[in-house]
Amino acid sequence: MFSVLPIQLIDNQLFPHYNGKLAVLRMDKIHTIVSGNKWFKLKYYLQEARSGNFKTIATFGGAYSNHIVATAYAAKLAGIKSIGVIRGEKPDTLSHTLQNALDYGMHLEFVNREAYSNKSALKQNLDPNQDNYWINEGGYGDLGATGIQDLFKSAPLWQYTHLVTAVGTGTTMAGLIRGALPYQQVIGVNVLKNQPDIKNEVKALLSPEQQTKNYLFLAGYEFGGYAKKTPVLIDFMNHVNSIVNLPLDFVYTAKTLYALGEYLKTAELPADSQFLFMHTGGLQGNLSLPPGTLRY
Ligand SMILES: *Cc1c(COP(=O)(O)O)cnc(C)c1O
Repeated sequence: MFSVLPIQLIDNQLFPHYNGKLAVLRMDKIHTIVSGNKWFKLKYYLQEARSGNFKTIATFGGAYSNHIVATAYAAKLAGIKSIGVIRGEKPDTLSHTLQNALDYGMHLEFVNREAYSNKSALKQNLDPNQDNYWINEGGYGDLGATGIQDLFKSAPLWQYTHLVTAVGTGTTMAGLIRGALPYQQVIGVNVLKNQPDIKNEVKALLSPEQQTKNYLFLAGYEFGGYAKKTPVLIDFMNHVNSIVNLPLDFVYTAKTLYALGEYLKTAELPADSQFLFMHTGGLQGNLSLPPGTLRY
């Protein structure tokens, strides 16, 4: 689809207290609907499904899930059918996300929240003969991290000392840690509250040696929790876009860049630090905001 991902340099005006380099890897530019990191995460799952001759890919997600719509699109391109198991009863009007997934040919299966919480029972019920290739919710897993590692081939990540990403399932962070060079630190910003296992979930995707690499988590920037928002966050998004021309999504990238700005106020950094912020996409999720919330 592309050979090299665009990198945008961010003017120091955005975070005046930091005078080092800050750039953004614009994975959101891959596609307007299909989220940047999801595209990379799905690559090897798709490959495995094809080489195993699976006719259908199935996965899980909520009504606004970037992963659902990305899977629908990727499966369509690969010529494989897809099923999205959606959390909650079918609404009268579908979200933009689900409508797009449907338009890409995904079959949607709505299940109530209680049933949704038991994934193995769901798989058993929906696919008793195990005919489908199942991808974890959010694309969590080893092959997902392997796909993210390919980012090091798609952009000059080696030029940076710090790589910053949002953490949902932690797969993206794990892929970055895997590929990180000895002088690089990976910083993950939690966007879910009450996710006590997240560090172990990231570790589970790393070899013992990779677990000793340089990475850290920033917590406390959830703005109320997953997919929640506050006026401060919305103002920040409008501000960022107006001064450096960078549209963010409110679920992941806005919280992550906000956290980075705060971190840069107090962090003790080597003089020649160069930060690369991963724009992991997700802009389609902003369509769920009331019109006029964002000035972009
Ligand atoms: C899913 C998603 C993330 C989180 O990625 P994980 O690999 O699950 O941690 C970050 N940003 C966006 C825009 C996403 O859609």
